[in-house]
Amino acid sequence: MRLEGLLGQKRAAAQLTAEAASGRLAHAYLFVGPQGCGRGTAALALFRALNCERRDDPPCGVCASCRRALAGQHEDLLILAPPHDQASAQIKVEEVREMVRSLSFAPFGGGWRLVLIRQAGQLNPSSANALLKTLEEPPPRNLLVLTVQDPAEVLPTLVSRCRRVNFKPLDEGLIASELERRGLAPEAARLKAALSGGSLGRALELDQELLAANLRTWRERLAQPGDPLADWSLAEELVAPFRGGERLDRQGLVELLDLLALYLRDCAVAAAGRPSAAFLPPELLAGAGLDLERASRGFDLVRQAQSQILGNAAPELAITVLLGRLRA
Ligand SMILES: [Zn+2]
Repeated sequence: MRLEGLLGQKRAAAQLTAEAASGRLAHAYLFVGPQGCGRGTAALALFRALNCERRDDPPCGVCASCRRALAGQHEDLLILAPPHDQASAQIKVEEVREMVRSLSFAPFGGGWRLVLIRQAGQLNPSSANALLKTLEEPPPRNLLVLTVQDPAEVLPTLVSRCRRVNFKPLDEGLIASELERRGLAPEAARLKAALSGGSLGRALELDQELLAANLRTWRERLAQPGDPLADWSLAEELVAPFRGGERLDRQGLVELLDLLALYLRDCAVAAAGRPSAAFLPPELLAGAGLDLERASRGFDLVRQAQSQILGNAAPELAITVLLGRLRA
């Protein structure tokens, strides 16, 4: 049995295929890892492999079950996820209850049913409670997979009922070559991979034109004299373009912060003596005078601020706190 289409997650794949092959699959799994690193892909691949009609080397990709699964039309594959367009959207209790009800029927295809709960951290307390009993003892041949970035996102009562599978951030080189395979020019692929934080999903979401425009803005900003991180007007510059509308564009702000992350990353690369691996011109990096430790720490701080902004944090506060910490 193989897990198809899963990039760079050998350990997770080996764990799942071994457990499936020996008939020791858990009732419920917690797939832990960064967004866009292949957790959902692994769940779907496992589903196809379990239900393939050819038993010698599943999945075959051509049997009726494989084809329905590949087309996203398999009746035994249930996916719960928060609404895509809302940053703080929750998985509602009604959806969980409906899923639980549908599990009382045996899987239609005679094989396995898989319930994939994406971003399980968005289960609100009622939704999580409605899930508990099913998670502990689902009806036969039903498998639940919850994806989280960090187990702390969900209640301990959920974590304890699931078997954990760890997914790691993808290697940058791997992401770059996958982007090239999908038709991106090498330089753009390398830049997006550098900004992806080990997430192919995130790399694919990055808007090429916006990235180029933001990069120009940053170069101009950084070319001005003085330490850019010591200047409070940077906070205003960052937030201002996203203010004024009825709704602040969190995603846009996060993409702009990507460039700050890139800058700090390049500073770290230059401080480590590998200026050729940087994207920004050496003269811009030299002016910053950041050592390796401060630059690396800064990079992590930007990533934290980005995930806060995509969560519920007030963006201006997150930026102000970020710049305060960067200057420290
Ligand atoms: Zn098949």
